[in-house]
Amino acid sequence: MRLLTPGPTTIPEQVLSKFAEPVIHHRTALFEEIFKQLQSQLRWLFQTEQPVLSLACTGTGAMEATVVNLFSPSDEVITVNAGKFGERWTKICKTYGLTVHELMVERGKSVELAALTALLDAHPHVKAVLFQASETSTGALMPVEAIVTHCKKRNVLSVCDGITAVGIFNLPMDRWGIDVLITGSQKALMLPPGLAFIALSERAWKLAEQSQLPKFYFDLKRERKMQDKLQTAWTPAISLIQGAVVALKMLQDRGHEAAFKHHECLAHATRSAAKALGLEFFASSPSPVLTTVKVPPQILEGKKIVKRMLEKYGVIITGGQDELEGKILRLSHFGYTDIFDVVTGIAALEMALLELGYPVELGKGVGAAQKAFQEFK
Ligand SMILES: *Cc1c(COP(=O)(O)O)cnc(C)c1O
Repeated sequence: MRLLTPGPTTIPEQVLSKFAEPVIHHRTALFEEIFKQLQSQLRWLFQTEQPVLSLACTGTGAMEATVVNLFSPSDEVITVNAGKFGERWTKICKTYGLTVHELMVERGKSVELAALTALLDAHPHVKAVLFQASETSTGALMPVEAIVTHCKKRNVLSVCDGITAVGIFNLPMDRWGIDVLITGSQKALMLPPGLAFIALSERAWKLAEQSQLPKFYFDLKRERKMQDKLQTAWTPAISLIQGAVVALKMLQDRGHEAAFKHHECLAHATRSAAKALGLEFFASSPSPVLTTVKVPPQILEGKKIVKRMLEKYGVIITGGQDELEGKILRLSHFGYTDIFDVVTGIAALEMALLELGYPVELGKGVGAAQKAFQEFK
């Protein structure tokens, strides 16, 4: 089975073998040594001097932790809803009684700065803008640096869900001044689900001092105090943390620049293949994380493509969710992935499309991907 989905992603053997080791106890010097290493690796990953906290939850847990630790009831925030994950910011904020000004963005599009600044002008008491770096449900890349710059100018916090972004393209937290950055283990980090990571700027920690929303498990101040002492408030996901040290070491050995370039190259190869197959792109500013294409009109039920690829060829891609169900295909190319994953995915896609009635010259997409890869600079 080949995983070409936007999480979970494939896990390298070096990481998998860690999970076969006995579970150590966490209130020990041995754990503290491992955790210290992970903390320093995470600061490297986030490009920050701030502590990066590890939480035993998935990415959504870190999103909820952000909201309950920064805000107080009836605080005003802006959420950028460009897809399912942006909508999740809205839902979490509403759950906790915040006043939410939602910036709706057409599916497949990136947020327009003019619309964001107009909303900020209209609501001068807004405390934060919550957005995605890469909206995984549509494949759209968001203009992170520009959003952060606009927020900073107005003394509004920028809260960036970097769950399919950190480690894939450049998001220098400190240099750009991102106030909150989060990610999760099962996306770019080559780990199973179950860990989330979060870092706050000094400004964000100050706002956290005033937060009145109830919190217990996700009390970041308490967590920070413990993690400063190389411990966690609750039992850590010990095995995942041991695996994370290995996975992050692999990322460090490759280096940021090479990793970003690698993902750009795979994106380029995938897009070249899709173009050669005559498929229409869905996202107008595509992220290097995944390529989204429209289901061709010759195939009425788009879900059949995903099903065929899985059941006949053992290749898992994803379709659209909610209103995009059956309408788009999402081809992921991040994490522990190389050109041969792309080529295999495209080969299976070609065969499935042909079998379902879309005219394909077999090998055309594969060849385009290979050529694009070789010519990529
Ligand atoms: C996957 C994802 C999430 C949610 O993560 P879970 O691990 O499923 O909780 C949030 N935001 C983005 C952009 C994602 O891709």
